[in-house]
Amino acid sequence: MYISHIQRGNLQRAIYVVAGLLIALLAIGCAISQDDANTVRVIRVVDGDTLEVNLQGTKEKVRLIGVDTPETVHPTIGEEPYGREASNFTKEKLTGQKVVLEFDVEERDRYGRLLAYVWLDGEMFNEVLLSEGYAQIATYPPNVRYVERFQAAQQEAREAERGLWGIIEEEPVTAQGERLESSNWLGNANTKKFHYPDCQHGQRTKSHNQVWFDFRQEALDAGYEPCGVCKP
Ligand SMILES: [Zn+2]
Repeated sequence: MYISHIQRGNLQRAIYVVAGLLIALLAIGCAISQDDANTVRVIRVVDGDTLEVNLQGTKEKVRLIGVDTPETVHPTIGEEPYGREASNFTKEKLTGQKVVLEFDVEERDRYGRLLAYVWLDGEMFNEVLLSEGYAQIATYPPNVRYVERFQAAQQEAREAERGLWGIIEEEPVTAQGERLESSNWLGNANTKKFHYPDCQHGQRTKSHNQVWFDFRQEALDAGYEPCGVCKP
């Protein structure tokens, strides 16, 4: 069979196109199966930041990257404030769910646990824990892919005094009379709450958010609500 120069050129182009398509299909296929490989079922929630999952028939422990929830089951520390709430939140949200694991630089920690970002319905659960105030940032390089996102989420939770940011240690009891003589009240321009100056809750107000009032009524008139803890 005689193939002209022009026809041969066309044939070559056709072969390239077909080869290109095949490679693309193969790549898509790999990407899909990769995704499937990282989709796991949560068998059990151990702690606010630790899960047990079924990864292709193998039971694996997963530690969420970049976050730290207060301890509930630590052998020496025991139970920390807000640990139970964090653990319950993760249990409620993730137990039995299908989630996608995303890995960073290191796949496992020194205890052999998988280190992952856990995606549930397009939301990253690590970030949710921070923005709801159930966890604090814990950065261990080189696994730092979402550090900036995490910082923003934590900052927001902290300013809104969500979750663990809203709890304080028991204050020493102060006589009510002594308090009423207090000459001023501290407002938080961000939360729109006001406090007695000795409230530990109020003392965490960043300096650029601090507003001082000479009279209680002044704070109320300015639209500030009394703190639920120190009850000014
Ligand atoms: Zn207060």
